[in-house]
Amino acid sequence: MKNLILIAAPGAGKGTLAKDLKEKYGYTHISTGDLLREAAAKGDELGNKIHETLTKGEFVSDDIVLAALKNRLMNDDCENGYILDGYPRTVKQAEMYDDIVKEINKDLGMVIVLDIDKELLIERITGRRLCRGCDAIYNIYNPELSPKDEHTCDKCGGELYQRSDDNLESLETRYNTYIEKTQPLIDYYNNKNCLYRVSSNEGSKVTLKRVIELLETQGDSVDKN
Ligand code: AMP
Repeated sequence: MKNLILIAAPGAGKGTLAKDLKEKYGYTHISTGDLLREAAAKGDELGNKIHETLTKGEFVSDDIVLAALKNRLMNDDCENGYILDGYPRTVKQAEMYDDIVKEINKDLGMVIVLDIDKELLIERITGRRLCRGCDAIYNIYNPELSPKDEHTCDKCGGELYQRSDDNLESLETRYNTYIEKTQPLIDYYNNKNCLYRVSSNEGSKVTLKRVIELLETQGDSVDKN
Protein backbone atom coordinates (compact mmCIF):
# COMPACT_ATOMS: atom_id res chain seq x y z
CA MET A 1 0.00 0.00 0.00
CA LYS A 2 1.21 3.47 -0.76
CA ASN A 3 1.62 5.80 2.19
CA LEU A 4 -0.94 8.60 2.18
CA ILE A 5 -0.75 12.20 3.30
CA LEU A 6 -4.10 13.90 3.93
CA ILE A 7 -4.36 17.66 3.61
CA ALA A 8 -7.54 19.52 4.49
CA ALA A 9 -9.01 22.39 6.45
CA PRO A 10 -9.92 21.66 10.11
CA GLY A 11 -13.22 19.80 10.19
CA ALA A 12 -13.06 18.68 6.56
CA GLY A 13 -12.95 15.03 7.62
CA LYS A 14 -9.29 13.96 7.59
CA GLY A 15 -9.60 12.02 10.84
CA THR A 16 -12.82 10.24 9.85
CA LEU A 17 -11.43 9.36 6.42
CA ALA A 18 -8.20 8.05 7.94
CA LYS A 19 -10.15 5.84 10.37
CA ASP A 20 -12.35 4.52 7.53
CA LEU A 21 -9.30 3.72 5.37
CA LYS A 22 -7.61 2.06 8.33
CA GLU A 23 -10.66 -0.17 8.74
CA LYS A 24 -10.87 -1.03 5.04
CA TYR A 25 -7.22 -1.48 4.13
CA GLY A 26 -5.40 -1.86 7.45
CA TYR A 27 -3.46 1.36 7.18
CA THR A 28 -1.75 2.71 10.27
CA HIS A 29 -3.29 6.08 11.14
CA ILE A 30 -0.88 8.71 12.41
CA SER A 31 -2.50 11.93 13.53
CA THR A 32 -0.02 14.53 14.76
CA GLY A 33 -2.95 16.23 16.53
CA ASP A 34 -3.55 12.97 18.48
CA LEU A 35 0.16 12.62 19.25
CA LEU A 36 0.18 16.18 20.60
CA ARG A 37 -3.04 15.70 22.60
CA GLU A 38 -1.46 12.60 24.17
CA ALA A 39 1.63 14.63 25.05
CA ALA A 40 -0.57 17.41 26.47
CA ALA A 41 -2.52 14.94 28.62
CA LYS A 42 0.68 14.00 30.50
CA GLY A 43 0.28 17.28 32.36
CA ASP A 44 4.03 17.88 32.75
CA GLU A 45 5.69 21.18 31.82
CA LEU A 46 5.92 20.36 28.11
CA GLY A 47 2.41 18.91 28.13
CA ASN A 48 0.94 22.07 29.65
CA LYS A 49 2.71 24.23 27.08
CA ILE A 50 1.33 22.07 24.26
CA HIS A 51 -2.17 22.17 25.76
CA GLU A 52 -2.11 25.97 25.81
CA THR A 53 -1.04 26.14 22.15
CA LEU A 54 -3.66 23.60 21.06
CA THR A 55 -6.46 25.43 22.85
CA LYS A 56 -5.61 28.66 21.06
CA GLY A 57 -5.67 26.83 17.73
CA GLU A 58 -2.06 27.78 17.01
CA PHE A 59 0.69 25.57 15.60
CA VAL A 60 2.94 23.63 17.96
CA SER A 61 6.64 24.21 17.17
CA ASP A 62 8.19 22.26 14.32
CA ASP A 63 10.78 20.61 16.58
CA ILE A 64 8.19 19.20 18.97
CA VAL A 65 5.93 17.87 16.21
CA LEU A 66 8.81 16.43 14.21
CA ALA A 67 10.26 14.60 17.21
CA ALA A 68 6.85 13.05 18.00
CA LEU A 69 6.29 12.08 14.36
CA LYS A 70 9.72 10.60 13.78
CA ASN A 71 9.39 8.51 16.91
CA ARG A 72 6.01 7.22 15.73
CA LEU A 73 7.26 6.39 12.22
CA MET A 74 9.90 4.06 13.66
CA ASN A 75 7.18 1.67 14.92
CA ASP A 76 6.85 -1.63 13.07
CA ASP A 77 3.22 -0.91 12.23
CA CYS A 78 4.40 1.75 9.75
CA GLU A 79 6.02 -0.87 7.52
CA ASN A 80 2.93 -1.64 5.43
CA GLY A 81 1.40 1.71 4.70
CA TYR A 82 0.45 4.60 6.93
CA ILE A 83 -1.75 7.66 6.67
CA LEU A 84 -0.41 10.98 7.85
CA ASP A 85 -3.27 13.10 9.16
CA GLY A 86 -2.18 16.62 10.10
CA TYR A 87 1.41 16.53 8.88
CA PRO A 88 2.93 18.34 7.05
CA ARG A 89 1.07 21.60 7.60
CA THR A 90 3.59 24.01 6.08
CA VAL A 91 6.03 23.93 3.19
CA LYS A 92 8.86 23.95 5.73
CA GLN A 93 7.42 20.83 7.40
CA ALA A 94 7.06 19.20 3.96
CA GLU A 95 10.74 19.83 3.31
CA MET A 96 11.61 18.40 6.75
CA TYR A 97 9.44 15.38 5.96
CA ASP A 98 11.23 14.86 2.61
CA ASP A 99 14.45 14.57 4.61
CA ILE A 100 12.92 12.12 7.11
CA VAL A 101 11.54 9.78 4.45
CA LYS A 102 14.99 9.63 2.89
CA GLU A 103 16.64 9.10 6.27
CA ILE A 104 14.37 6.29 7.42
CA ASN A 105 13.77 4.87 3.96
CA LYS A 106 10.03 5.45 3.48
CA ASP A 107 8.05 6.34 0.36
CA LEU A 108 6.36 9.70 0.11
CA GLY A 109 3.35 7.97 -1.50
CA MET A 110 0.20 9.89 -2.47
CA VAL A 111 -1.07 13.21 -1.19
CA ILE A 112 -4.85 13.64 -1.04
CA VAL A 113 -6.41 17.07 -0.55
CA LEU A 114 -9.98 17.16 0.77
CA ASP A 115 -11.73 20.24 -0.61
CA ILE A 116 -14.62 21.67 1.39
CA ASP A 117 -16.71 24.86 1.43
CA LYS A 118 -15.97 27.02 4.48
CA GLU A 119 -19.67 27.33 5.46
CA LEU A 120 -19.81 23.58 6.17
CA LEU A 121 -16.94 23.64 8.63
CA ILE A 122 -18.72 25.44 11.48
CA GLU A 123 -21.30 22.70 11.97
CA ARG A 124 -18.69 19.97 11.57
CA ILE A 125 -16.35 21.51 14.13
CA THR A 126 -18.82 22.64 16.79
CA GLY A 127 -20.84 19.40 16.55
CA ARG A 128 -17.83 17.07 16.70
CA ARG A 129 -17.66 14.71 19.69
CA LEU A 130 -14.94 12.12 20.34
CA CYS A 131 -14.91 8.98 22.43
CA ARG A 132 -12.38 8.81 25.25
CA GLY A 133 -12.44 5.02 25.06
CA CYS A 134 -12.07 4.11 21.37
CA ASP A 135 -11.49 7.47 19.59
CA ALA A 136 -14.69 7.09 17.53
CA ILE A 137 -15.81 10.38 15.95
CA TYR A 138 -19.43 11.61 16.05
CA ASN A 139 -21.31 14.75 15.07
CA ILE A 140 -24.34 15.72 17.11
CA TYR A 141 -25.70 17.92 14.27
CA ASN A 142 -25.49 15.24 11.59
CA PRO A 143 -28.15 12.48 11.82
CA GLU A 144 -25.83 10.06 9.97
CA LEU A 145 -23.06 10.56 12.52
CA SER A 146 -24.85 11.39 15.75
CA PRO A 147 -24.58 9.07 18.77
CA LYS A 148 -27.77 7.70 20.34
CA ASP A 149 -26.85 9.55 23.54
CA GLU A 150 -24.94 12.83 23.27
CA HIS A 151 -22.55 11.82 26.08
CA THR A 152 -21.97 8.12 25.38
CA CYS A 153 -20.19 6.20 22.62
CA ASP A 154 -22.47 3.78 20.71
CA LYS A 155 -19.52 1.48 20.02
CA CYS A 156 -17.82 1.05 23.41
CA GLY A 157 -19.96 2.95 25.93
CA GLY A 158 -17.06 5.37 26.56
CA GLU A 159 -17.55 9.01 27.50
CA LEU A 160 -17.89 11.48 24.59
CA TYR A 161 -16.09 14.81 24.83
CA GLN A 162 -15.51 17.96 22.82
CA ARG A 163 -11.95 18.98 21.89
CA SER A 164 -10.80 22.18 23.60
CA ASP A 165 -10.06 23.72 20.18
CA ASP A 166 -13.42 22.80 18.62
CA ASN A 167 -14.98 26.23 19.17
CA LEU A 168 -15.73 29.12 16.80
CA GLU A 169 -12.83 31.29 17.97
CA SER A 170 -10.18 28.60 17.48
CA LEU A 171 -11.78 27.54 14.21
CA GLU A 172 -11.28 31.04 12.79
CA THR A 173 -7.57 30.94 13.72
CA ARG A 174 -7.15 27.36 12.49
CA TYR A 175 -8.95 28.07 9.21
CA ASN A 176 -6.97 31.23 8.47
CA THR A 177 -3.74 29.40 9.27
CA TYR A 178 -4.79 26.62 6.92
CA ILE A 179 -5.33 29.05 4.04
CA GLU A 180 -2.14 30.95 4.70
CA LYS A 181 0.28 28.19 5.70
CA THR A 182 -1.08 24.82 4.61
CA GLN A 183 -2.66 25.52 1.23
CA PRO A 184 0.73 26.32 -0.37
CA LEU A 185 1.45 22.60 0.07
CA ILE A 186 -0.94 21.96 -2.80
CA ASP A 187 1.51 23.52 -5.26
CA TYR A 188 4.44 21.89 -3.49
CA TYR A 189 3.05 18.37 -3.99
CA ASN A 190 1.53 19.13 -7.38
CA ASN A 191 5.03 19.84 -8.58
CA LYS A 192 6.05 16.40 -7.35
CA ASN A 193 3.16 14.82 -9.33
CA CYS A 194 1.72 13.01 -6.33
CA LEU A 195 -1.30 15.22 -5.56
CA TYR A 196 -4.98 14.21 -5.86
CA ARG A 197 -8.03 16.32 -4.96
CA VAL A 198 -11.33 15.01 -3.64
CA SER A 199 -14.40 16.98 -2.55
CA SER A 200 -15.60 16.29 0.99
CA ASN A 201 -18.64 18.56 0.80
CA GLU A 202 -21.07 15.63 0.71
CA GLY A 203 -20.03 13.96 3.96
CA SER A 204 -17.86 11.08 5.11
CA LYS A 205 -19.50 8.18 3.24
CA VAL A 206 -19.32 9.86 -0.17
CA THR A 207 -15.78 11.07 0.52
CA LEU A 208 -14.68 7.55 1.43
CA LYS A 209 -16.25 6.17 -1.76
CA ARG A 210 -14.42 8.77 -3.85
CA VAL A 211 -11.10 8.06 -2.17
CA ILE A 212 -11.50 4.29 -2.58
CA GLU A 213 -12.18 4.82 -6.29
CA LEU A 214 -9.10 6.98 -6.50
CA LEU A 215 -6.89 4.47 -4.68
CA GLU A 216 -8.18 1.58 -6.72
CA THR A 217 -7.62 3.33 -10.04
CA GLN A 218 -4.01 3.82 -8.96
CA GLY A 219 -3.38 0.18 -10.02
CA ASP A 220 -1.24 -1.77 -7.61
CA SER A 221 -1.02 1.02 -5.07
CA VAL A 222 -3.40 -0.65 -2.59
CA ASP A 223 -4.45 -4.19 -1.83
CA LYS A 224 -8.07 -4.56 -2.85
CA ASN A 225 -10.51 -6.20 -0.45
P1 AMP B 1 -5.71 18.28 14.31
O1 AMP B 1 -6.09 17.17 15.24
O2 AMP B 1 -5.02 17.80 13.06
O3 AMP B 1 -6.87 19.21 14.01
O4 AMP B 1 -4.62 19.17 15.09
C1 AMP B 1 -4.95 19.81 16.29
C2 AMP B 1 -3.92 20.83 16.65
O5 AMP B 1 -2.66 20.16 16.87
C3 AMP B 1 -3.62 21.88 15.59
O6 AMP B 1 -4.56 22.95 15.62
C4 AMP B 1 -2.23 22.32 16.03
O7 AMP B 1 -2.30 23.12 17.19
C5 AMP B 1 -1.58 21.03 16.46
N1 AMP B 1 -0.90 20.35 15.33
C6 AMP B 1 -1.26 19.17 14.73
N2 AMP B 1 -0.41 18.87 13.73
C7 AMP B 1 0.51 19.88 13.70
C8 AMP B 1 1.61 20.16 12.87
N3 AMP B 1 1.94 19.36 11.84
N4 AMP B 1 2.32 21.29 13.12
C9 AMP B 1 2.00 22.12 14.14
N5 AMP B 1 0.95 21.93 14.95
C10 AMP B 1 0.19 20.81 14.73
